[in-house]
Amino acid sequence: MASSSAPPTGAHIIARALRDLGVTVVFGIVGIPVIEIAEQAIDLGIRFIGFRNEQAAGYAATAYGYLTGRPGVCLVVGGPGVLHAMAGIGNSSANAFPMLLLAGSSESHLVSKGGFQELDAVSLLTSHTKLAIRPPSLDLIPDVIQSAYRSSFYGRPGTGFVDLPADLIQGIADEPEGTRHTRPLPAPPMSAADQARIFKTTQLIKAAKAPLVVIGKGAAYARAETVLRPFIDSTHIPFLSSPMGKGVLPDSHPQNTASARSTALKEADVVLVLGARLNWIFHFGDAPKWNPSAKFIQVDISVEEIGRNAGDAELGICGDINLVVQQLHHALGDWSYDYASSPFAQTLEASKRKNEAKAASAAATAPEPGKPLSYQHAFHVINTALQHLSPVDRGGIVYVSEGANTMDISRSAFPVSHPRLRLDAGTYATMGVGLGYAIAAHEAYNAPEGEGSAGPAGRKKIVALEGDSAFGFSAMELETMARHRMDVLVFVMNNGGVYHGDSDSADEWLARQAKGAGPGGLRSTSLGWEVAYEKIAEACGGLGFVVRTPEELERATVQGFKADVPVVVNVMIESGKAGKLEFGWQASAKKRAKKE
Ligand code: ADP
Ligand code: MG
Repeated sequence: MASSSAPPTGAHIIARALRDLGVTVVFGIVGIPVIEIAEQAIDLGIRFIGFRNEQAAGYAATAYGYLTGRPGVCLVVGGPGVLHAMAGIGNSSANAFPMLLLAGSSESHLVSKGGFQELDAVSLLTSHTKLAIRPPSLDLIPDVIQSAYRSSFYGRPGTGFVDLPADLIQGIADEPEGTRHTRPLPAPPMSAADQARIFKTTQLIKAAKAPLVVIGKGAAYARAETVLRPFIDSTHIPFLSSPMGKGVLPDSHPQNTASARSTALKEADVVLVLGARLNWIFHFGDAPKWNPSAKFIQVDISVEEIGRNAGDAELGICGDINLVVQQLHHALGDWSYDYASSPFAQTLEASKRKNEAKAASAAATAPEPGKPLSYQHAFHVINTALQHLSPVDRGGIVYVSEGANTMDISRSAFPVSHPRLRLDAGTYATMGVGLGYAIAAHEAYNAPEGEGSAGPAGRKKIVALEGDSAFGFSAMELETMARHRMDVLVFVMNNGGVYHGDSDSADEWLARQAKGAGPGGLRSTSLGWEVAYEKIAEACGGLGFVVRTPEELERATVQGFKADVPVVVNVMIESGKAGKLEFGWQASAKKRAKKE
């Protein structure tokens, strides 16, 4: 570490800038020339979580940004390190999660000479980040890092990128240590809404027959729960959450329409969209999923979002959800929607009863003896055990969920009562985020310094529900968890493949494998049959369980929950033949053909 009077190195100035910004953890992988930055950061009291692939480190930084409400920091080497970390950049932009990415690069004088891991990362990343910049000299490092951090953080969040050539990292400053500081950065200023639009919106809401509030992960990121709860409680407007907006209001809230989602979309006539985009997740706001004459009032900090797809540009409100909801609440006064006696409520409640009964029966159906578990029953067993271990209403568990079926089916199987306790593949449908996200959640909620900024107080258990395919993208991060003593509980829902897998039985799988990759051989959705994923946990210093029955699953859940090391519960579940697969679009095509 530089002594207080000697001129510091570039590496020290970089680490110092991070500390001045309040950064307490850096995710990444070191190598030449960034290793010295990580070492200096550690000496300054910053935690460094070293990953096994930059992709997972980038994902972790983005999720950390989302959970804590300040940019997550990722440090990687140049060239291939930057290319791997681009997965994190894509994830940051698509989800609007703030990330500061720092990457090394070859010495400035070697540009275009074929230097070590040479890449013109600034040119490459300019169009993919909010700011991509290289400090021109040592003394400008603090300002440049602050700029990139601020760009990623203010406005709609995204990535700020700083390229750090080796000569800069290794250089010695002209001025003594402590001459230049990075100004700490407060939370972004909030903007309120145009009062005329607030008035228009209240008129529409009051006149609506079937109003609906849509709550997205922007509301979770904005920590809007404190204004939203009284708004929904007093206006009685039913609400629907996006997959990660879940928990901003408790799932158990009587006005939650989650289990009547299709009905809510079809019937709603005035839709107040709070921190969600009308993208594929909400079917672009289009018919036939939505009522074709519904009016969409978008509330967003990003004015570019207003009027997109079905959003009505003349109604959209640009502003921070916290302030806009307060303005709306104030303007509505003590008006409330007569939910109880509305036909909308009757349709919603009927649909809720029907769907909940159907889900409950699937969840309760145990497999016949000798037959494999279904997703539904497996999740039911896990959830029941977890609820006994840590009542969900105390907000004691963070769920991470990915893999097509695992994510879709588990979404409704694990109720949450607090915001920011559920992470999934998100806007980009990024498979492979799970273990990086779990590490980020562990760091955000359980770091030794106990920042506690990420959610309700108290230590939280991180539970990752992973499809076997999704798990494979970053399985080696189990070692990262073990090394950092993170007691993450991972369930691998093992059906031997992508989607439904490829084979009904071991014999069938072996027969297909014997035929090779030709006709009738292994299909594109095939993965290994009953792979012993639990052994990866054991090999890294964690615990592993293989389970086939509800009883084994229950026992492993309890033991896994109590363990103080990472745990993999390898859950053998039913799988299907590739040929039997039916995707949503195939089903709709069939339906259409039938109608014609
Ligand atoms: P979801 O996937 O949950 O539907 P999206 O990521 O599509 O959510 O949308 C989140 C939206 O929230 C983004 O358009 C983002 O600009 C917006 N947003 C983020 N923070 C705020 C805030 N403080 N106030 C208003 N809108 C916000
Ligand atoms: Mg699978």
